[in-house]
Amino acid sequence: MMAAGGFDRAGERRRDEAWVSARLRDAHSRFAPVWEHRNLFVAGESRAAWLPAEEAAPLVKAAGYAVLLGVSDEATWFSVPVAEDPGIGEWGDLRQHGLLMTPLEAGLLAFARGMNHWHARHGFCGVCGAATEVREAGHLRACPACDALHFPRTDPAVIMRVQHGERCLLGRQAAWQPGVYSVLAGFVEPGESLEDAVAREVMEESGVAVANVRYHSSQPWPFPASLMIGFTAEAISEEIRLEDEMEEVRWFTRDEVHQGVADGTFRFPSTFSISHRLLTDWLDARG
Ligand SMILES: [Zn+2]
Repeated sequence: MMAAGGFDRAGERRRDEAWVSARLRDAHSRFAPVWEHRNLFVAGESRAAWLPAEEAAPLVKAAGYAVLLGVSDEATWFSVPVAEDPGIGEWGDLRQHGLLMTPLEAGLLAFARGMNHWHARHGFCGVCGAATEVREAGHLRACPACDALHFPRTDPAVIMRVQHGERCLLGRQAAWQPGVYSVLAGFVEPGESLEDAVAREVMEESGVAVANVRYHSSQPWPFPASLMIGFTAEAISEEIRLEDEMEEVRWFTRDEVHQGVADGTFRFPSTFSISHRLLTDWLDARG
């Protein structure tokens, strides 16, 4: 979902205060307001409602900053935090709209949402407790009391498709919609390699041992600030031992998945998710 071609995060421009200040007032600049975890959409549509500089100016003034998202051929893109219900437009959840949007636009809104989440939690220095100041076009918060610099963080999470011959290990949590199964996933701990995190999470959630952990693909997951790093792995044990975290974990053959879909007992995870891609890649592969 994150933007690829045609968009430049323009990291080298963030410290250029004259450039940023000119772009904040430029008629071609566009602003994505973020209110709590919500983005602004065109009423009744899965399209972002981008504000021109003139309309965004009061919001930028109230916030004291805007976040430079980047530049493309058409515009310079910013996000701006909104503190209270502004009573404008239609606020929506990116999870509901993301799939129906262009990848570039969904990526920009995800970026905006993630930056807003970070700013909302870093108003005070984690080292000394003083109020922090926004710098570098919204990409740094600096502490004037102790000089600590605070940068946006992304939490790495591993998500893995574990196979044993013809079968794939899938599980579900009690809180999920009935019938929804996913590949297993979990957060990486400090000091841990991604491969070790894969093996540990699979063991914790299912009791299955794995080997041959291979990278598959990754996906920014701004709910709130993760990067999902997808892997495949081979099981070297079969027996499942459940801990509290999962309601059910079991081995599925492709036929069992197809049968479950047909009789309504199996539902895929959101098509928005890397879990969906890992699962459908396996279903589509032969043998
Ligand atoms: Zn400090």
